[in-house]
Amino acid sequence: MANENIRSGGISVEIEHIFPIIKKWLYSEKEIFLREIVSNACDAVTKLRRLSSLGEAKDLDLDGSKIRVILNKDEKTITVTDNGIGMTEEELQKYICQIALSGALDFVQKYENADTAAESGIIGHFGLGFYSSFMVSDTVDVITRSYTGGPLIKWSCSEAGEYEITTDYEDEDGLVDGRGTAVVMHISEEGEEYLSASRLKEVLDKYCAFMPVEIYFEDESADADKPEAKEGEEPEAPKPINDTDPLWLRQPSDITEEEYKDFYHKVFRDYRDPLFYIHLRADYPLNFKGILYFPRITNEYESLEGQVKLFYNQVFVADNIKEVIPEYLLMLKGVLDCPEMPLNVSRSYLQNSGYVTKISAHITKKVADKINSLFSTDREAYEKLWRDLKTFVEYGCLRDRKFHDKVKDSVLFEKCGGGFVTLSEYLESAKEKHENKIYYATDKTSQAQYISLLEAEGIEVVLLDRVLDTQFISMVESVNSGVKFARVDAEVASAMKNEGDAPEMNAAAELFKKIAGEHVTVEVQTLKDASIPAILTVAEESRRMDDMMKMYAMQDGGMTNFPLESKLILNAASPLIGKLEITAESDSDKAEMIAKQIYALSLLSQRKLSAEELTKFLGDSYELLSRI
Ligand code: ADP
Repeated sequence: MANENIRSGGISVEIEHIFPIIKKWLYSEKEIFLREIVSNACDAVTKLRRLSSLGEAKDLDLDGSKIRVILNKDEKTITVTDNGIGMTEEELQKYICQIALSGALDFVQKYENADTAAESGIIGHFGLGFYSSFMVSDTVDVITRSYTGGPLIKWSCSEAGEYEITTDYEDEDGLVDGRGTAVVMHISEEGEEYLSASRLKEVLDKYCAFMPVEIYFEDESADADKPEAKEGEEPEAPKPINDTDPLWLRQPSDITEEEYKDFYHKVFRDYRDPLFYIHLRADYPLNFKGILYFPRITNEYESLEGQVKLFYNQVFVADNIKEVIPEYLLMLKGVLDCPEMPLNVSRSYLQNSGYVTKISAHITKKVADKINSLFSTDREAYEKLWRDLKTFVEYGCLRDRKFHDKVKDSVLFEKCGGGFVTLSEYLESAKEKHENKIYYATDKTSQAQYISLLEAEGIEVVLLDRVLDTQFISMVESVNSGVKFARVDAEVASAMKNEGDAPEMNAAAELFKKIAGEHVTVEVQTLKDASIPAILTVAEESRRMDDMMKMYAMQDGGMTNFPLESKLILNAASPLIGKLEITAESDSDKAEMIAKQIYALSLLSQRKLSAEELTKFLGDSYELLSRI
C-alpha cells in the first residue's frame, strides 16, 4: 500500500478520558452499541433521501437503500454497512474525529467522577453514539465513500484512541457498494456475547424492528445456519428483519382492525385480543405518535405487567419509562414515538421537563376521551368490557385526579342483582330510601341475607369485591361530599325499619348482652321483615380500619386486634323474639339456650365463625336438639 495514502494521528489527548468512561458508563447496557451504529446507518440513508427529494443529490438509485448487519464469528467481527450519504475525508475528520470531542468534553467534565453517569442512560446526546462501538470492540474501522464521489477512505482506530486514515482503500470484501459507509467492529472480550448469532439477532430485533431503512442480517461464520434451497427451486430472497413502515406512523383510516390486532399480537406476544386501542397522533408542538392497547385485565395482580415501548424516530429507546408515561398507563401495552423528546438527557431532567408533562397530559386526555366515548356510544358493549377495564380505570382515578375528573361519569358499579349503574344513577334511583348512601357487598354468598333484605326494600346493592375497591370508594367519598358507602352489614337502613318507636324488650335485651359480651351493643328495633330475629351490624368506619390493619398485618406478618364496633339488633317484629321476651321471665335456662342459637346464627350470617365459636355453636345445637 502506498505510504503517502496513510495518515496517522491521535484523536486527542482528551480521548484518554473518554474511552474508559464509555466502557464504564454503559457497562450494563453494552447492547446499545448496535442501536447506535445501525441508527447512524439509517440516518445516513435518510439524509441522502432528503437531499435527493430537495434536488440536491441527483441520479441516485435510492430504491436499493439498505443496511446489512454482518456477523463473522471466525474473524470476530460485526459489520454494519449502509449505502447512504457516506463521508469525505474532511467530513470523517470533522464528524468522527472532532465532533465527539466537543460534546464529549462537556460530558467528561460532568460525569467523570460521578456515579450518576450510568443514570443518564442514553448515549447519543454528546455525539458519542458512534464511540459506543468501543464498548464491545478493540478496533473499529470505518470504510466510507461520500455520495459526492471521491476516494474510498478507511479509518481505523484502536481502543487507545490511536487512528489511521487510508485513502484510496481497496475494499476487497465489497462492503461499500459505490457510496456509503461500513463500520467494522473487531469484537473484544467484553463484546464476546454478541458474536452469538441468536444474541445479536435478539438485540437487533429489540432496537431496530421499526427503523425506516431495510435491515438484513447476514451470518458469515463458518458454522452459520444457511437456508438450504430446495432442489429445482430458487433460494428464497432474504427478508429484512424490520418493518420500515410501522403501523403507528400510518393514517388510522388506512388501517384495518385486523392490522391493529396483528400488530398487537406480534409486538406484545399476547395471543389474546386487546379490548380496544387508541391511535395517538399529536401535532406540533408535541408532535408524537403512538398506539395504546388496552389488554384484558381480568386478574388485578396480573394487571401491572403492561409494556409501553418508547421510540425516538422509529428507534427503540426503552420500555416503560415512568418519567414519560403516567404510572397507571404502564398497565397498558403500546408504542410511543416521540421525535421531540430530549431522550438523551438524564432521567431527572425528564421528570421535570415541561414537554414530558404535556405529553402525559395529552395521553391522559385521549385515554379518558376514549373511555367516555365507549361509554356513551354503546353502553351495552361498554358494560361487557367493564370487568376487564375496571382495575385500570380505578387505578388511574386513584393515581391521577385529573384522570378521575374526566372519566368519573363513566365509572360503573356492578349490581349484585345483575347489571351496572353509575354513581349518579345509583344516587338518583330510590333516592328517599338510601339517603345518599351506596350499599355494597364484598361477598355475594356470605352476605346474601343482608343483600336480600335491602333488595326487598328496593335498595340496590353493588358488588365491590376487589382489593382496590376499598381505596377507590374512600376516594369517591372524599371528592363527593355527602356521599357515603356502607357495606350491607354496616347498619340497618331506615327503609328496612317500621316507623315509630320499637317496644321495650328489656328481658331479651339483657339476655343478649350477657351472651354477646361487652364489645357488642344490643338494640331493639322493629324491622319490616318479621322472619329475622336478630341482625348483627359492624360500623363501616371501624370495619374499614380493621380491614386496613389486616392488610398491613398481612404485609408485615404481624397480628392485629382492632376492636370492631358491633351492634346486635333485636327485631321486635319477630315472633321468636316476642316469645323469648316471655320465656326469659318464665324459664331463663331455656331462654338462654334459644338466645345463644339466635346470636350464633346472626354471627354466622355476618362472617365466618372462629374455631372456638364454631365448636361452641355445634355443641349448643346438639344440646338443643336433645331437649326436643
Ligand atoms: P450523532 O449520531 O449523535 O451525531 P455519532 O457519534 O453517532 O453522533 O456520529 C457522529 C457523526 O458521524 C454523525 O452525526 C454523522 O455525521 C457521522 N456518521 C456516523 N455514522 C455515519 C454513517 N454510517 N454514515 C455517514 N455518516 C456517519
